[in-house]
Amino acid sequence: MSDSYSLLILPGDGIGPEVMAEVVKVVDWFKANRGLPLEVQHDLVGGSAYDVHGVPLSDATMELAQSVDAVLLGAVGGPKYDVLDFSVKPERGLLRLRKEMDLFANLRPAQCFDALADFSSLKRDVVAGLDILIVRELTSGVYFGEPRGIHADDNSDNEGGRVGINTQRYTSGEIRRVARSAFELARKRGNRVCSMEKANVMEAGILWREEVQWVHDNEYPDVELSHMYADNGAMQLVRNPKQFDVIVTDNLFGDILSDAAAMLTGSLGMLPSASLGAPMANGRPKAMYEPVHGSAPDIAGQGKANPIACILSFAMALRYSFAEVEAATALERAVEKVLADGARTADLMGAEGGTPVSTSQMGDLIVAALSEGV
Ligand code: NAD
Repeated sequence: MSDSYSLLILPGDGIGPEVMAEVVKVVDWFKANRGLPLEVQHDLVGGSAYDVHGVPLSDATMELAQSVDAVLLGAVGGPKYDVLDFSVKPERGLLRLRKEMDLFANLRPAQCFDALADFSSLKRDVVAGLDILIVRELTSGVYFGEPRGIHADDNSDNEGGRVGINTQRYTSGEIRRVARSAFELARKRGNRVCSMEKANVMEAGILWREEVQWVHDNEYPDVELSHMYADNGAMQLVRNPKQFDVIVTDNLFGDILSDAAAMLTGSLGMLPSASLGAPMANGRPKAMYEPVHGSAPDIAGQGKANPIACILSFAMALRYSFAEVEAATALERAVEKVLADGARTADLMGAEGGTPVSTSQMGDLIVAALSEGV
């Protein structure tokens, strides 16, 4: 591993730059107070890149993204860019990054801070203290498989005369690489993986189960592995989500299960994510970290955005790219302390009240909590 941690910050559009400014305060704190060798570069993505370069991601920025240890992205898009041709829409910048970096494992944690447990639609005791991680395969499966399309179907019994086709297709290699990601991540957490598929009705599910088991038996026997049918998994996620540590699943089931799990925790302004690829020469995985939320044009420029999703995305970078587990935990604790003390951006103002704070006040409070060493 190299000595420094190179990080490319792409704030993007709308509230992206506002929430990223708070992350920069946190990054500077870790450099100054914990001596973390973070080397930060800034560049443009999305509409802001289009305004300057005429494309949502320049080749130079793409090259830079390929060369760093981790990319941290704010959000892209906004009404100003809705009229643009599909090929240069802000989202294309994001998709180009994911595709060219070959980020095949999408990590969506569902973490419920005690102070926000009443925001969940589930009972407090079901979600308080929840900390699970869903690893979704992102670059294959039924969203990409061939054949696909809508065709004429001459079968005389078919009212309407058309057929729609998508193909669930996974190679063993695609399953093994995402399984490895899940096992590696589990080792940095609770050391347990639950793999979800539909092996009872799908051949691709049987292969998924066999290959995940193979990777476990041959490479990660120390990690506890269980298998579950995805429909039961959905039920268990709302019945007793705390039974899980890491869940690994395919693109389609992961899309659905990760959204359901995210909502266990309440606000969009709280949800971080990561997308990881293959290990680079220095041993670190290709990685991009980003909040789940978008550019929120309805509140942009008003100091109302919650920066916590972006700050927790940086905590994921500390944990999964730089193996700075203590620093990541310290940052998550600081967020927890500030919330427990009652600080609330507008999106977190619930019936029980709290102290209203702006985007930058929330960032300042989190940095102050880090300094207090909570
Ligand atoms: P959005 O996530 O931007 O906003 C949805 C709602 O949640 C809004 O009411 C917004 O004010 C609120 N919200 C979102 N993040 C918040 C935060 N950090 N703090 C407080 N409130 C927050 O989704 P949208 O409105 O559907 O999309 C707006 C734009 O963002 C569109 O151009 C869309 O294409 C883009 N988008 C980008 C990404 C991304 O960059 N990854 C993801 C989703 C949407």
